Amino acid sequence: MSRLRAPSPTLKRITPYDPRYLAAPYQMSANENPYDITGELRGAIDEALAQVPLNRYPDPLAKELRDAIAAAYGLAPEQVMVGNGGDELLFNLVLAWGGPGRHALVIPPTFSSYAADAIATRTELSEIALLEDFSLDEQALLSRLAEGDIDLVFITSPNNPTGKCVDAAFIAEMLQESDALVVVDEAYGEFCDKTAFPLLADHENLAILHTLSKAYALAGVRLGYLLAAPSVTSELTKIRQPYSVSAVDQAIGRAVFAHRDDFAAQTARIVADRDRVFQALTEMPNVTAYPSEANFVLFRLSEAFEAEEAWQALYEKGILVRDFSRTPGLANCLRVTCGNPAESDAFLAALGAFLEGGAS
Ligand SMILES: *Cc1c(COP(=O)(O)O)cnc(C)c1O
Repeated sequence: MSRLRAPSPTLKRITPYDPRYLAAPYQMSANENPYDITGELRGAIDEALAQVPLNRYPDPLAKELRDAIAAAYGLAPEQVMVGNGGDELLFNLVLAWGGPGRHALVIPPTFSSYAADAIATRTELSEIALLEDFSLDEQALLSRLAEGDIDLVFITSPNNPTGKCVDAAFIAEMLQESDALVVVDEAYGEFCDKTAFPLLADHENLAILHTLSKAYALAGVRLGYLLAAPSVTSELTKIRQPYSVSAVDQAIGRAVFAHRDDFAAQTARIVADRDRVFQALTEMPNVTAYPSEANFVLFRLSEAFEAEEAWQALYEKGILVRDFSRTPGLANCLRVTCGNPAESDAFLAALGAFLEGGAS
């Protein structure tokens, strides 16, 4: 007879992350880059991979990749940390600055990982919701920080799923008014021209997260990096999984990062497509589209329609978008990833047909 002792009671509060991936010809739900890496760069990656010894453990600190990232930003290598996707770095930040008896502040609606990581690590969670127009409640945030018990804050700029950037001047104010570690998640930073980066030089309590999953088309590889003071990265090295970034990931990361400037034209095309989708959505009756500085657009249907039904109608035409209608603050909202004009056209046509009540 086999029996199993119950796991940690913490798990009662957790439901597994479900991105609701479904096979669909038009994948517009996960904010991926719609263009896989091809051509010369793909060739360079293949060549680099052929040289990777598969029998040896990877370099735990990914020295070469980290040096390349540090050099690109004019930072010391000690100010850079790489991880198995941005997600791993976020988890490590909560492990290191959160935990039982510690307190994280998040600003919903936003990326769900921050709260999930806090719950998993038994970090106390405070939330200060975005205002109705999805801007920050600056006064509420500053007064909450002034209470002095917040250890860690997550700011997402541009925010996922609302698409709005946070003013660097306000981030500077938070950094000044508090000693909490302020994590600025710039996973979509390449799609806009705003960054908290200039604040890094003067603020030990700032950490900036980047990923290669979005603008750099490596979601399948799992690579992210953090820019922060050595006093932050040295703490993270105590709790990180030493071999989480494989030798294969590191080799691909080095090749792609070395060619990152080649992505500028593609990024500009993705941004142009996003602006076109936003414009088209604003012209549709019964749709409110929210301006975005990322590679997706969030939009809300009027009460005459159900977002879930729209989601279903799009899915039946092979178009997968993300349904946020059950997220507090995002009633009747869907999010569509942009970048491929043919996909965006199919999406706009299918949504238009749904709204007109037209079948097929
Ligand atoms: C996609 C995303 C990340 C990180 O993704 P990884 O694939 O784990 O690098 C981090 N933050 C936000 C807000 C994201 O949307």
